[in-house]
Amino acid sequence: MPDRILFWHRRDLRISDNLGLAAARSRSPQVTGVFCLDPQILSRDDVAPARVTYMIGCLAELQQRYAEAGSELLIIQAEPAKGIPQLAQAIDAAAVYWNRDVEPYSRDRDTQVAAALQEASIAIKTTFWDQLLQAPGSVTTKSDHTPYTVYSPFWKNWISQEKSAPVPALEAAAGLSADRKERAKAAGAIALPSAKDLGFMWKAPLLLEPGEGAAQKQLSEFCDNDRYIAEYDEQRNFPDVDGTSKLSAALKFGAIGIRTVWAAATDAYQRCRSDETRRNVRTWQQELAWREFYQHVMYFFPELADGPYRQPFKDFPWVNDEADFQAWCEGKTGYPIVDAAMRQLNETGWMHNRCRMIVASFLTKDLIIDWRWGEKYFMQKLVDGDLSANNGGWQWSASSGMDPKPLRIFNPASQAQKFDRDGEYIRQWLPEVRHLDTAELVTGKISDGERDRAGYPRPIVDHKQQQALFKDKYKAQKS
Ligand SMILES: Cc1cc2nc3c(=O)[nH]c(=O)nc-3n(C[C@H](O)[C@H](O)[C@H](O)COP(=O)(O)OP(=O)(O)OC[C@H]3O[C@@H](n4cnc5c(N)ncnc54)[C@H](O)[C@@H]3O)c2cc1C
Repeated sequence: MPDRILFWHRRDLRISDNLGLAAARSRSPQVTGVFCLDPQILSRDDVAPARVTYMIGCLAELQQRYAEAGSELLIIQAEPAKGIPQLAQAIDAAAVYWNRDVEPYSRDRDTQVAAALQEASIAIKTTFWDQLLQAPGSVTTKSDHTPYTVYSPFWKNWISQEKSAPVPALEAAAGLSADRKERAKAAGAIALPSAKDLGFMWKAPLLLEPGEGAAQKQLSEFCDNDRYIAEYDEQRNFPDVDGTSKLSAALKFGAIGIRTVWAAATDAYQRCRSDETRRNVRTWQQELAWREFYQHVMYFFPELADGPYRQPFKDFPWVNDEADFQAWCEGKTGYPIVDAAMRQLNETGWMHNRCRMIVASFLTKDLIIDWRWGEKYFMQKLVDGDLSANNGGWQWSASSGMDPKPLRIFNPASQAQKFDRDGEYIRQWLPEVRHLDTAELVTGKISDGERDRAGYPRPIVDHKQQQALFKDKYKAQKS
């Protein structure tokens, strides 16, 4: 009788192109999956209802896929270091497999789970870097083999390396006998709860339907259709255009395998007939490399999760005005492009990348509020909220991160004039000012009377003044 393997899913909610799962299946046909609802994660104060809803949807589909393959995905709600060994023992698993993660909490948790399993004499196999095309440590500086802290040389090295092809899906696996199923229940296996059961309410439609089926479809639409990937570089900056892949939540939870994504992008690249389209595809590949860069640096510099990378920012004199922060969160700063973006976030759980940069710059450089406040608010709302990408994006915007040209200040009016020329995005999210002229909307030059009549706030700060103030503080801090 072959050994039973318990495969622990975390941010790899799929049966296709899953490195650890494929390795488990190639060792034994008896593979049972488990997902652990970790109270320590779910009770944090930065968990977004949209994200939990997406995750539960992915788990529902994953359960179905396990059933179709002949096995099962068990759900437990427990501290992983207790729940995983208990379940493994109950179903007589000889080994537990899982894919690695870069986040500090996950790494500590995994060390504890590994120790508890070893104590229970259950083998583990956890060497798989499933969520990345290049494992941390495989992309290092040529001179002294240390991790890169700047993106451009990272990209050059990263793109020059061979990427793995997708691995086979779990197609047939033997499930648990009836008595083992009973024992699994006694050890804590439960029916999959809804997001609402877990205390999270999200009523709006999700950006992308959860699960690997929808993610695969989205990937094909984006990469196989000339309208999307082949025009990405031109279209990606306009928030009212459907020009990006919308795969971020699927990538965050692993509803799609990164090797599958890369294979689709490579196919698209090879189909290109002009340098122009090749450039567009290349830009999308560079975004995938940004995702990997931020995960690599989180792995090697876990202190990034707690604070700024750049020393002068450790005690930066932020103003941190609570009322200004509230206005920013609610999309009531009086700066139309900023407010439109924040309302998109609040209403949909997603925000266009260009707007993420605009609102992050506004919070840190105009309101002079600690970027960590914004980072946390994003995590409380984003369907794709991800520690490495979010922290990387915020530190880049705040000038506190690994950026060789750090002092960037976005002018909201110039950004809107450039990227929302017709004011369509602003009109979509700020219905109260929809009737105003485009020039008023994009420049933000709206008279007080007009603002009062529309019920739209006056600007809470003056961009020019605040920019000067930030620069002074920045200079003083550096000297
Ligand atoms: C302040 C700030 C916070 C951010 N927070 C997050 C976050 O919590 N989670 C998240 O996934 N992305 C985050 N991003 C990056 C980016 O905004 C989103 O990945 C992107 O908007 C998602 O849309 P898409 O899937 O259509 O992306 P596409 O443009 O189609 O890009 C493809 C994929 O590449 C990755 N990617 C793209 N841009 C970046 C980037 N700048 N950094 C890292 N990965 C990237 C994502 O996985 C994305 O799905 C943040 C950016 C900023 C400026």
